[in-house]
Amino acid sequence: MNPKFAEVVVDVHARDVDRPFDYRIPPELAARVGVGTRLIVPFGNRRVEGYVVGLSDEADVEAEKLKEILDVLDEQPPLTEELVQLSEWMSHQYLSGKAAAVQALLPAGMRAKTAVRLRLADKRGPEAAQSGGNEKSRFFEKKQELLRLLSGNSPVYKEQLLKERPDLKTVVQRLIQDGRVIESHEITQAVQTRYVTVADCPLSENDFVQAIEQIPARAFKQKEVLQWIRQNGPTAVRDVLRATQTTYAVIRALSNKGWIRLEQVEERRDPYADRFSSELEKPLVLTEEQTNAFDSIVESMRSGKACQILLQGVTGSGKTEIYLQSIAACTKQGKQAIVLVPEIALTPQMVERFKLRFGDAVAVLHSGLSQGERYDEWKRIRRGEVSIAVGARSAVFAPFEQIGLIVIDEEHELSYKQEDQPKYHAREVAWQRALHHSATLLLGSATPSLESRYAADRGEARHIVLASRFNKNALPQVQIIDMREELKAANRSMFSRELQRLIYDRLQKKEQTILFLNRRGHSTFILCRSCGYVARCPNCDISLTYHESGQFEMLRCHYCGHSESSVTLCPSCSSPHIRNFGTGTQRVEQELNKLFPNARVIRMDVDTTGKKGSHEQLLQKFREGQADILLGTQMIAKGLDFPRVSLVGAVSADTSLHLPDFRSAERTFQLLTQVAGRAGRHDTEGRVLIQTYQPEHYAIQSAAKQDYEDFYRQEIKIRQMLGNPPLCKQIVFTAQHEKKETAERWIRNLEKELCGSLRSPHADVLPACPAPLSKLQGKYRYHLTLKCSDYSKVQPVLSAIYPVYAKRMKEEAGLLTVDVNAQIIL
Ligand code: ADP
Ligand code: ZN
Ligand code: ZN
Repeated sequence: MNPKFAEVVVDVHARDVDRPFDYRIPPELAARVGVGTRLIVPFGNRRVEGYVVGLSDEADVEAEKLKEILDVLDEQPPLTEELVQLSEWMSHQYLSGKAAAVQALLPAGMRAKTAVRLRLADKRGPEAAQSGGNEKSRFFEKKQELLRLLSGNSPVYKEQLLKERPDLKTVVQRLIQDGRVIESHEITQAVQTRYVTVADCPLSENDFVQAIEQIPARAFKQKEVLQWIRQNGPTAVRDVLRATQTTYAVIRALSNKGWIRLEQVEERRDPYADRFSSELEKPLVLTEEQTNAFDSIVESMRSGKACQILLQGVTGSGKTEIYLQSIAACTKQGKQAIVLVPEIALTPQMVERFKLRFGDAVAVLHSGLSQGERYDEWKRIRRGEVSIAVGARSAVFAPFEQIGLIVIDEEHELSYKQEDQPKYHAREVAWQRALHHSATLLLGSATPSLESRYAADRGEARHIVLASRFNKNALPQVQIIDMREELKAANRSMFSRELQRLIYDRLQKKEQTILFLNRRGHSTFILCRSCGYVARCPNCDISLTYHESGQFEMLRCHYCGHSESSVTLCPSCSSPHIRNFGTGTQRVEQELNKLFPNARVIRMDVDTTGKKGSHEQLLQKFREGQADILLGTQMIAKGLDFPRVSLVGAVSADTSLHLPDFRSAERTFQLLTQVAGRAGRHDTEGRVLIQTYQPEHYAIQSAAKQDYEDFYRQEIKIRQMLGNPPLCKQIVFTAQHEKKETAERWIRNLEKELCGSLRSPHADVLPACPAPLSKLQGKYRYHLTLKCSDYSKVQPVLSAIYPVYAKRMKEEAGLLTVDVNAQIIL
């Protein structure tokens, strides 16, 4: 017996519809409706996309009152039952909407949109010309054109049509009024499966010979094409045309005679087609240390229990090789593997390592692909055509059905946290999936997050340490430079004397240098030295960044894009001693050019890497030795491997220490350690200089020693003392409103409510206060932070209170958001 009713989460983002609705399943669709099916349902007077999250034989209301499902969208349900459960877990855990939680699981382009399609009311096409005035005849022409468009084969959508042809607007409206054209609401999807027409010759040998004889001599092209298809087998028509240098007319003629068969076949958009040979690379022979790590991972996969492993190893210790061999072991057991890599490190070289080892068994998901490519890669996963998925954060949702291993490389990276609804952390989601599949979650990093390292301390994760670099190269020698001493010695440059000396030395030796600017929370700003005035954004209340392009001096806000021209006199006290301060990448580049006029410098920052692919191009140039110095922000710190680099300088190492965030020491340590790891990865011995105004800070000290454990011991003590994560979960509510009073009133209301309801030892409500970014894009922002040691006790209270407040605040044109486990607090 097929179930009668489906519980459907509809694609309507409003708090009061954030629950599943019951729909009747019409008998003709019953066979295609299951948990995870995507369908079209009526909702109000609209048609919307929905997902089946449950089936039943009984409904809450009388069956007659329920609406019926209109259509099923895909051949195979896009979601598995496990993923449906996962979406429920996410909306519960992160206090997010159900529809948003479902959509997070799927490739972006799959989300269906409703569009208004225009159709002819009857089959009458364009009409014979009428006589009439000039004005009238122009209208008539447009009308004819529209009718012609609508009688064609391809669907015409109103919005799209009027965007391309705004001049047709009046005609469209008139014909709709007249009833000549009707509007229908249809569901479309941004990405479509792509089809290709394939030609094949179905004839028996005898019929084929006869056909060839029948073709008259003047139609020699037909003969040639038929023979070609016969010889080559089923081929895309466009390839036939190219190979035989002919036109579609010939194909049509052959098809009309029944000599060839034309078929629509699904086509895969393969971003890596023809890029890799089919011969796969062999695994490397592991060192003893690597073998021990590998054995532990395999043993854990065999245990049949969900298991978390922290693989802590310095860059170059061979973590990636261990992932590769563990994945091979996993697929050998008939299971599937997911590998998450930070978006920025998901470079062609990284993908190449997986493609070379596993070939077509790998699906790749990342934002560098087109939506169509991503959709097709995703389908290969869903259909079980591949066993390995490599991708950025959202690849954690790869719809595999038997997962054996999930790898998160550089697990401490910020990019694993989604900053939109649902604000999930890929590490937590991965663990949820590992629990369901009894799989192994392998977290790899040279500088683990405090969360993961603490979990290892508590025995929740197995801890494997790779102590040495594969090639036994010594870690680079790191030296701390006290910039206060430079100033005392009258060196006003942003480069210490030692750094200048070493850059010069490397230029002589034709070795390469990387200069790193720590720009998190720091940029070039305008400061008046007479009165202390700093130019700020009128919308966001943060300092404006100074930019120089050509002869223009501009101030720009990096949050909202506001820009104004720079000033020469202070707007506050009229002093002329107002100038740009701080070390933007442009200024460092200028100073470099002054100090080393012959050095070739590549600058990498948001300005030079805006265009798609430019990031990779610049790095490629540097790798090929077309430049001596690579200068950049944190985007150059990650996952890069340049054999000729023998000097790394952190120009302003400590600026990230001053962020209003309890993780600022952790971030600084991670960044500096990573940067230091860029030097001397190969045979050239590396030197690293860290310039700082706070040389005694433990984050700087342990980064210089490349000693993670040393850093961890000090940092965890401070977290324990202050009761900060990982000893608790930190939940941050943000209220935003154009009016300061309104934002403040709502955050105080919430504070009172939570203080009243959460009188438990599990939670601690901190006083509400203005956010570090107290004004952003014209809105005032307030924070309320909650620390809790046992989230499961607190969650029910929050899920009862938060939606009510969010709704009320929305009614007053404000916004109340919540971030469970906030990573960046701004
Ligand atoms: P990580 O991911 O820890 O930074 P990789 O796996 O990228 O380290 O290894 C660093 C370099 O050492 C790579 O070029 C890799 O090919 C090489 N390597 C690692 N392990 C071995 C091994 N067992 N045999 C040969 N080369 C190795
Ligand atoms: Zn001033
Ligand atoms: Zn702004």
